[in-house]
This record gives sequence, C-alpha cells and structure tokens, in this order.
Amino acid sequence: MGSTYRMFRLRAEETPPLFPQPGPFLPKVSKPGLARLILKEALGYNRKLLGSAHREALLSRPCIYGVFSGPFGGFSPRVEKCTGCMRCVQEHPEVCSVVRNPAFAEQGDSYWTPTAATGSTPLSTVLYEAHTGKVPVRGMGYKGAFRGEGWDAMWTDMSEIVRPTRDGVYGREYISTSVDIGRRASHLEFDASGDLITSSRTVEIPIPIIFDALPEQVSNADITESIRTAAGNVGTLFVGRYVQKEARCIALAGDLDSVRAAQRCAAIELEDAALLQEARKLFSGPLGVRLPTKEGFVERAVELSRTADFLHLCADYHGRTFESTERHLKDALLDVHQRLVQEGIRNEVTLIASGGIILAEHIPKALLCGADAVALDTALLVALQARFLGECRFPERSAIQRHRIPVEWGTRRILNLMTSWHHQLIEMMSAMGVREARRLRGNVGRALFADELEREAFGDIQGY
Ligand code: SF4
Repeated sequence: MGSTYRMFRLRAEETPPLFPQPGPFLPKVSKPGLARLILKEALGYNRKLLGSAHREALLSRPCIYGVFSGPFGGFSPRVEKCTGCMRCVQEHPEVCSVVRNPAFAEQGDSYWTPTAATGSTPLSTVLYEAHTGKVPVRGMGYKGAFRGEGWDAMWTDMSEIVRPTRDGVYGREYISTSVDIGRRASHLEFDASGDLITSSRTVEIPIPIIFDALPEQVSNADITESIRTAAGNVGTLFVGRYVQKEARCIALAGDLDSVRAAQRCAAIELEDAALLQEARKLFSGPLGVRLPTKEGFVERAVELSRTADFLHLCADYHGRTFESTERHLKDALLDVHQRLVQEGIRNEVTLIASGGIILAEHIPKALLCGADAVALDTALLVALQARFLGECRFPERSAIQRHRIPVEWGTRRILNLMTSWHHQLIEMMSAMGVREARRLRGNVGRALFADELEREAFGDIQGY
C-alpha cells in the first residue's frame, strides 16, 4: 500500500470580534431630512409602503449593507456595517454624509491605517480575514495611487492567469505551498565504512509562514497560547522563548543553557551567532541565527550561511531595515539573496524574513525577493484585536493594551487568517503560473518593480 496523498486545506469558521470594533467609516444622517425622504417615498410612490409588511424595506433605504436596517432604520444607523461605498451620499447628498471614523485608526498605527488609503486599510482587511476566513473582495474599483512605498512599489506578474489547469483555490491541479526550513545537502557524503551520511537538516512546513516571537510588552499568556495552538493546527512553526519542549517550536536561544533545554524543539534560532559552533555540538536539528538588518547585515549573512542552517532576517514592524528607515525589507532580501547566489551557497541555507508582513500579498512578494518563508508579528496581534499604544515600529519600544482572551477564540481567529492567506497565496501562484512555493524563491522574473519600470519608461526625462 502506498501512502495516502492529502491536499493541504484549512477550514475557516466565522469568529466574530470579542471587543467592540469601530468600523473605518462613520455614516451620518440628518434625522429631519431622513423623515422627509421616507414620507416623500411612501406618499410619492405607494402608500402601501407605510404598512408593516413593507416598513422594513422602506426604513432600510438606501443602504444595501444593512446600515439602516436596525429596528429604528436610519434614525439609529448601525455604523459598524458601513463599507464606505458612498451610495447613500450619491443618492441623497442632502440627507447622508460619510466621514472617516477616528476611533478606527486608534486601533492600529500609521502602518496599519495609512492616511493615504482611499478604501480598505490593512487593519480593516486583516480584521475581516480573521473574522470570516474569507478572501476580501471589493467590486467598487480602485481609485488610489498606482504605486506606493515598500511592498506597494512592486507587483506580481499575473500574465499566466488564463492557464486553465492552474485554476487557483478550486483548481484541478494541486498547487503546493510547502517549504523547508534548514540546510539541504549540496552533495552526498559517506563515512569511512561507505555508509551514506545524512547531512540535510530540514523541517517541512505546509505554508511558507511561521509565527515570530513577540516581546513581552506586546504579548501575554493568552496571546502566546493562541499562537502556539494555531501553529499546531496549521502544522507550521512558531518562534518562542519560554516554550522549549514543543515539537512545533523554533526555540529562541540566547545562551548554551537554552540550547540544551530545547532538545525536543523542531529547530533552534540563536540570538548570538558566536554560539553557533558550540551549539552545533549540542543540537543535531536545524540551527539558525536571528539577524537584524543592521549595518553590514549582507556581509554577515554571507559569512553565517556557511555554518548556519537558516537565517532569520528581521526588519522593524513597519518593514524598514534597522540600518536605515529608507531601506525596505524587500530590498534587503534582494541584496542578501543575490549575494548568496553569487557566492554559490544560496541552495544550502534557508532565509526567513520578518517585519512589516501584514497582508497576504506580502508573502509571495517576499518570496520573489529571495525569502524561503516569512515570520508574522503584528498581523497576529491585529487578528487578536490587540489595540496598539502609539506607534508599534521597533519591537522593544512597542506596546499594546493587553487584555485576556479565550485561547479557543484566539486560535480560531489566527486559523481564519491563515485560511484566507493560504487561499490568496494559491490564487496568486496560480496567476503567476507557479505550482510550488519553493519555486517562488528569488524568482524575480515573476515580479515587476516600480522603480525599474519608471526608469525604463522615463529614463531620458530629467529627474529620472
Ligand atoms: S456609505 Fe454605503 S455602506 Fe455606508 S451607509 Fe452609505 S450606502 Fe451604506
């Protein structure tokens, strides 16, 4: 009997917010204006509308999203349902107006609720995904800028979108999102007696996403436990400092005692690269190094890649390097990846990227720039309705309002987020004509970079 082949699937389950969740828009209705409108519609079109059978429909006008469908209709609008479609304003400008809700922006920071955002923000997107597990779809057309900063300065090449066999989530052809963490052997090795020595040290995960360790001030026991349980349910790994006997844990180790204590973990991530040689004597699994994007990190990455099994390249929570706020994680990744290719050692080491990866589309973009997998941080906090206290940019200086949450609820919210992101990843890979997440790594032929395109188009024009 051969082994049974199973497609990787995650199951979403509606998990409503635990705490009041202000929406991004605040619809305002003039009550005398609304009364006049309802009377005019009822008397002007058909008096039957005033009867109880039609009252609900009459009062719920003109919103199709249920903002005016409460017991008192538009006199007490259910503002949290507003999607900002502006239909009410267009149809009845004398009665309705819609403004941004300041309470909404207070839940995140400038990275999560950019002021330039015209429609949905990363905050509203992730909250929706964690609630429903569905892919957010908007049919209103995009009226924002053509390009932006950071991840918005690159696009994925969707030119393969018409291939019938690569039909995304509902396709007939399986698209694999599995990747490996660790070192792959570049050649076969044999011992003195001629037996094959296995020199690969890898752990396979079903999606190119792991969960990063969160500093104490942006976490608590419930958040940690929710992340740990969700990682187990998804089948992926989480980075953790205090949970070192977990088969799904990448133990974050700052000294050799922590390495000794983490023998049953899937992998170990060293905070101090100087421990690498000694740690290798103590641990036989994948051994990596956490590498903040500080000055000289590209050279450091090349040097460490000769001994470490994986490197975890960390940017700040806004996706900028610690070396310079001008430099984005995607550029840092491209630099490291290309240097490793030049040195001929790219296939031996795994590159994990973290910092500012907050939307599903950031994952294939990070992979195209050279990452094998990404680690999530503030996206998990937003899914768990954590409220930021000020700007959450530098991990050690960030803070959230900590509250107790049921672990089951937290686990479901993260699972929903992963379900939605897995579907979106498959859709994007399908459109790019790529069947395996492993083949996305460094595949810049499937990426379009705004700077390059602008230089090509406007190269001769002064200023470019
Ligand atoms: S903006 Fe759209 S969703 Fe919001 S109240 Fe008006 S019609 Fe409803």
